[in-house]
Amino acid sequence: DVHKLKRVLDDSSAQVKSNHNHPGNEILITQETLKTALCEGQLYLEYQPQMSLKKQQIVSFEALVRWQHPEYGTVYPDVFIPVAEESGLISDLTKNVISMAFQQLAQWQEQKQYWHVAINISAKDLLSMDLPGYLAECEAQYQVPAQKVMLELTETAATGSLAESLEILNRLRLRGYRLSVDDFGTGYSSLSKLHDAPFNELKIDRRFVSSLLHDEKAMAIVKTCAALAKMLGLQVVAEGAEDLATVKALEEMHCDLVQGYYIGKPMNIEQIKECYRDAS
Ligand code: C2E
Ligand code: CA
Ligand code: CA
Ligand code: CA
Repeated sequence: DVHKLKRVLDDSSAQVKSNHNHPGNEILITQETLKTALCEGQLYLEYQPQMSLKKQQIVSFEALVRWQHPEYGTVYPDVFIPVAEESGLISDLTKNVISMAFQQLAQWQEQKQYWHVAINISAKDLLSMDLPGYLAECEAQYQVPAQKVMLELTETAATGSLAESLEILNRLRLRGYRLSVDDFGTGYSSLSKLHDAPFNELKIDRRFVSSLLHDEKAMAIVKTCAALAKMLGLQVVAEGAEDLATVKALEEMHCDLVQGYYIGKPMNIEQIKECYRDAS
């Protein structure tokens, strides 16, 4: 519905079809309401566990943003991230997400939980905000080292100068951040980006992972991605593992980390505490 989004955005509002929680309910997301959400702290993070297959332990969490809307309840990012990207609010949203994630890392550090966090960065952020500078501020404010943070970058069509994006990615690496290619296999120019950019991790899209047991082509794609990542010296994460048989198959392919409903759904911080009270 990108077309519809764009059209309505011209009146600085967007009609979005539905929301996981309220299927069929029309909800209206505008630049204004999104701005309010940012100003009034209506966004929060859920965390989805990533398990190391070697350690058989949760080693990190992906931070996934949600919007606690006063009328609509929980609104999911597939609905409002596109609006944020189109309306120029994405870098404010990203800053908000980054500082919430650092605050959480600081808390875990204090509780002697040595978990890492993966943060989603929009392709637009690389050129439209001072990402290295903002991260440095958060490091200083929360006393959390860069090594705890994986930045997940989705491959979208180039939004600007490729050379400039590469330069920023290199700077982030030099500062100790780790970089992941999100949704690998679904975007643009994956292979040339893998070749040129300083990635540490390849994240295989859940579209292939969740169907690999029943779909030979998906199986071949996942195997090939995992083998490619290994040859390039990258860590491999498979997302969207929904059952044990899939996890076993991923283990055979030497994936390093698995994420998916079988390991754990995205949870708020209370649920994480509940679930992992005695963990690592
Ligand atoms: P993503 O980065 O690919 O995140 C994974 C999505 O897959 C999440 O949906 C998660 O809930 C879902 N998922 C995880 N495991 C399973 C599984 O086993 N089965 C199924 N069917 N689904 C699974 P979510 O939270 O709705 O996020 C959707 C997308 O929104 C994300 O896709 C990401 O592209 C974007 N997003 C989320 N948080 C942020 C953020 O803070 N900033 C930006 N820029 N984008 C974000
Ligand atoms: Ca992601
Ligand atoms: Ca993904
Ligand atoms: Ca995705």
